[in-house]
Amino acid sequence: MSTVVKIGDLLVGGNNPVRVQSMTNTPTDDVEKTVRQVVELVDAGCELVRITARNSKDVDCLEKIKNNLAKLGCHVPLIADVHFNPKVAELAAAVVDKVRINPGNYIDKKTDKQIFTEQDTKDAIEAAKINIAPLIEICRQNGTAIRIGSNHGSLSDRIIYKYGDTADGMVASVMEFLSIFEYLDFHNIVVSLKSSNPIVMMEANHLLIKQMQTNGMDYPIHLGVTEAGAGQDAVIKSAVGIGCLLNKGIGDTIRVSLSENPVNEIAPAIEIAKFKSYCEHNVTKNITCLPNNSSMLVKTNSISEFSDEAVNIVDFTDKNLREMCCYLDDYYSNHKDKIAIKKFYDLSLNSEKLAIQSAVEFGTVITRHHVFGIETNLETSLVFDILQACKVRLTKAEYISCPTCGRTAYDLFSVLEEVKQKTSHLKNVTIAVMGCIVNGPGEMRGADYGVVGAGKNKVVIYAHGKQVTGNFDASVAADELLKIIKGEVVRD
Ligand code: SF4
Repeated sequence: MSTVVKIGDLLVGGNNPVRVQSMTNTPTDDVEKTVRQVVELVDAGCELVRITARNSKDVDCLEKIKNNLAKLGCHVPLIADVHFNPKVAELAAAVVDKVRINPGNYIDKKTDKQIFTEQDTKDAIEAAKINIAPLIEICRQNGTAIRIGSNHGSLSDRIIYKYGDTADGMVASVMEFLSIFEYLDFHNIVVSLKSSNPIVMMEANHLLIKQMQTNGMDYPIHLGVTEAGAGQDAVIKSAVGIGCLLNKGIGDTIRVSLSENPVNEIAPAIEIAKFKSYCEHNVTKNITCLPNNSSMLVKTNSISEFSDEAVNIVDFTDKNLREMCCYLDDYYSNHKDKIAIKKFYDLSLNSEKLAIQSAVEFGTVITRHHVFGIETNLETSLVFDILQACKVRLTKAEYISCPTCGRTAYDLFSVLEEVKQKTSHLKNVTIAVMGCIVNGPGEMRGADYGVVGAGKNKVVIYAHGKQVTGNFDASVAADELLKIIKGEVVRD
């Protein structure tokens, strides 16, 4: 069980309900628009709202936003999202209820260095102790909490050199910071490890729990599959990544990150939050996902890839997730033969609820055990979205895109939509559409191609992790991207 942290008037962690978060995507310096969006989010059920803070001017606006919200009777805890600039974090800590800092870009600066030694790590930690101390003092005085939020797409060069671009690196980055905060005797902390890949995000959180347990820590955890994209497949990725962890008792606050109006994030988040199990963390069962491109078999109304005679099928139609897990844990502790799982759903349920329930249930058992195939009455497209989110069968292009925030300076939603339209025929390709350099270049390490914002209405294109164009107008981003993809011949 995690400890309880107070954020504004809201308690997070322990036996408290899973708290639903979101983030505004309005320019922070447009106070009126941002206040309106915060109110819309709260009306939809959001319990914590994050707002980007790029500079001291944004922090002044955060104060106005907070005051204007209070006049409207809205006291939702506000979180300042800070990257690159410790001074901004310090200013924001005196204004808002929580400050999110990113170990990947808070202390370690971009460098041309190619090789990092153990001494570099020691030096970075010693420097961090000095640099973080003023922020901690301001947080202490103001009762402000801190989120240490590491993203797979924004690990520092030093961490990547030592651990690679891995879940281990994400955990190491956060553990370094936690050790510094403990040294400075500050514990009003929430931790998050996010990735656009649900499997990496799940693996990282498992590792984090183990590391925290080893070190006697029990900080609350914020969960999210970041840059999940838009539409059904994005909700499915979140349901798989967040739902599976909540079901193991891991996670205290969540965000469903969508490249859409942030208000659309709230209903699915509330639905996914229902899967929280209030038991001790059960991390003995690590994820056991099959490698990418393997092909789990499927049997639905429109496709039948295995016959009843060929495989042992276990029917879970009347079983809940706990019963499914208990049965499979028991079966696989005594058997080596893979089984297929069958579950039929009540198709009269609301379609989003049905998608979330099936994604969490199939996602949990698929990522926990090597099952042979699944049989269900769900739409085949939904089944394939779940398998793609679990990385056990890839049937279409994978899209990564950030939810946008006050740092986004081009119409990312339109570019994403056009990119999807123009590339939907491709398979086995990952395309990222990112708002800015915070996570953009980092996400390009895991994408084949991508677009990253590069100033007002400007973008650049990446191919295989390298920037391959200069800045150009975002309105032609999809066409330019397609030219680059066509030039390299992708399987379709
Ligand atoms: Fe905002 Fe997107 Fe940049 Fe993240 S990558 S900081 S969501 S614009």
